[in-house]
Amino acid sequence: MPSITNHLPTAELQALDSAHHMHPFTTNDELTQKGARVITRAKGIYLTDSEGNEILDAMAGLWCVNLGYGREEMGQVAARQMNELPYYNTFFQTTHVPAIALAKELADLAPGDLNYVFFAGSGSEANDTNLRMVRTYWAQKGKPEKSHVISRKNAYHGSSVGSASLGGMTPMHEQGGLPIPGIHHIGQPDWWAEGGDQSPEEFGLARARELEDKILELGADNVAAFIGEPIQGAGGVVIPPSTYWPEIQRICDKHDVLLIADEVICGFGRTGNWFGSQTMGIKPHIMTIAKGLSSGYAPIGGSIVCDEVAEVINACEFNHGYTYSGHPVCAAVALENLRIMQEENIIDHVQNVAAPALQEALNKLGEHPLVGGVNVSGLMASLPLTPHKESRAKFASDAGTAGYLCREHCFANNLVMRHVGDRMIISPPLIITPEEIAIFADRATRALDATYADLKDKDLL
Ligand code: PMP
Repeated sequence: MPSITNHLPTAELQALDSAHHMHPFTTNDELTQKGARVITRAKGIYLTDSEGNEILDAMAGLWCVNLGYGREEMGQVAARQMNELPYYNTFFQTTHVPAIALAKELADLAPGDLNYVFFAGSGSEANDTNLRMVRTYWAQKGKPEKSHVISRKNAYHGSSVGSASLGGMTPMHEQGGLPIPGIHHIGQPDWWAEGGDQSPEEFGLARARELEDKILELGADNVAAFIGEPIQGAGGVVIPPSTYWPEIQRICDKHDVLLIADEVICGFGRTGNWFGSQTMGIKPHIMTIAKGLSSGYAPIGGSIVCDEVAEVINACEFNHGYTYSGHPVCAAVALENLRIMQEENIIDHVQNVAAPALQEALNKLGEHPLVGGVNVSGLMASLPLTPHKESRAKFASDAGTAGYLCREHCFANNLVMRHVGDRMIISPPLIITPEEIAIFADRATRALDATYADLKDKDLL
């Protein structure tokens, strides 16, 4: 028996955790003072912690546990695959059935001529693949100088050196000398925060046209690709105005710039279609996938690539790959996830049951004096907090104070909502029912009320 188990007292687990475990995106010294919440098990949309609290997970982990927790079929498939073939690589002219079957399934699910898959272990790795793949594509076509990639400020594409460079998060760029050369960032289509007096439609067009300006500045012959999340997730669930993506598509087509849609969050039903590109009307050359591909049950990501790009890449040796590209256990788990999603009509449930119920609940929350708007697409949403609804004003305190307070009150009410600055983020498992959404709304209201009272006390309203 291992000596560290769920049965140890919480304080002991927390002490061991802070003695040896460095947490991502965390000031570990502060966490040591506070003690990390220890999650011991989960079922459906609920987490259980080491104190026995049942917490409603309105974030589906990190936007990934789309099928909800505790699906035994997934564990059974993983065990079967581990016993049959726990590992083999897909380098050196070999393959295996889980990788073959998953690639075929993804080609069938993906729209248009996105018919090829390059597997990775995560979204970050997949975006690193994309960066190298688009540059290799143009080099193979005799245009090695067509190598620059354009992205957006406040985008999130991962934490590896390549993917964090593609991302537009300033605090990430400030550590470790990022971005690497050849990557450029234009403004994001965040009308709520940055639209000023423009209508959403005007602002959407203006932000899209920053892409054309940047392409002309760099020279179209030097630009390989544009990358964007159909809806920015970690940036605060930024849903672009309706004018944005059609203009981006027009500009990419006109200047022969490849379009990469990062579907790591939007993919696999989150926005009510299989892919966010379908919801937003985008025709990408490459889609980045991860998270919902396996509902987070196993680490797997990849790039779904269109015929035109794949045919060029396939004609050369692409000197790129990961030990775990197409890992058989992860691929088998992903296949089972996709099978269940289809058998249980999860996309239909999102579109016709869960999303309308969430929209209704959020509209009510939107009436709260602290909530400045409701951004929602399918089952991804954000509620920007504001001291003044009409002007969409920001808080006088540092951005994030109100959001952080609200997140703490959510925790106190057994609810996980994440905050991005002063925006509250919602991305529950796709299997959530209207009854569970009502429980979510009740806990969220209590958290918002407590945050409001706190902000008043602190003279921040
Ligand atoms: N792209 C997007 C849009 C993401 O949201 C994320 C993760 N939040 C990533 C890429 C990186 O994925 P991973 O954490 O699996 O490397």
